[in-house]
Amino acid sequence: MTERTTDPADVSTSASDAREPQQHAATPAAPSVGGAEPPVLHCTWHPDRETVLRCARCDRPMCTDCARRHPVGLRCKECIKETRSPLYKVEPRGYVLSAVAGAAAGVAAATVAQMAFALIGGFFQLFLAFILGSSLGTGIGDVVGRAAGRKRGRGLMVVAGGAVIVGTAIVAVVTWQFAGLSRVPLLGLIVYTVLATSAAAARLR
Ligand SMILES: [Zn+2]
Ligand SMILES: [Zn+2]
Repeated sequence: MTERTTDPADVSTSASDAREPQQHAATPAAPSVGGAEPPVLHCTWHPDRETVLRCARCDRPMCTDCARRHPVGLRCKECIKETRSPLYKVEPRGYVLSAVAGAAAGVAAATVAQMAFALIGGFFQLFLAFILGSSLGTGIGDVVGRAAGRKRGRGLMVVAGGAVIVGTAIVAVVTWQFAGLSRVPLLGLIVYTVLATSAAAARLR
């Protein structure tokens, strides 16, 4: 073991004089107790590499290649996988539940929109369609995400968009069958559907 004084300047890669060959594990100048050398860590995945980094979650040593950025410090590549995937990993059961809940929310939201459009016509109907589309669409996206177990991701975006379209179609068809085609506020519903679909999907991105 070589005696060496660890200088704080060594830690930063901007070496003052000589660049240390292959010595990229310049241990930080922790006040060494009784002259003992600071512990040299080896990467969990690359045992031949020395390092000073530890995962903020599992505390395992890791080299710079294995470290990943995370809002609460550096994490190892395995912890990043574990923390990222649960949010985006949806079980088949989650898809079924979210589709059912989303369709119900889609029908309820389209019913509200339909009733509002029945009262208001012309330009204001379009204005209303914009407001209802974005707000109710966001709500449908919320319902879909919660039903899947507070998940998000591309699959659920499709489910939420489908829920808006199916819900609106059901309401439009029911209105058509029971009240006649002239009672279906087509323009308002179309604008509503476009906006609600994108709002619902955006909620789960
Ligand atoms: Zn870790
Ligand atoms: Zn490594």
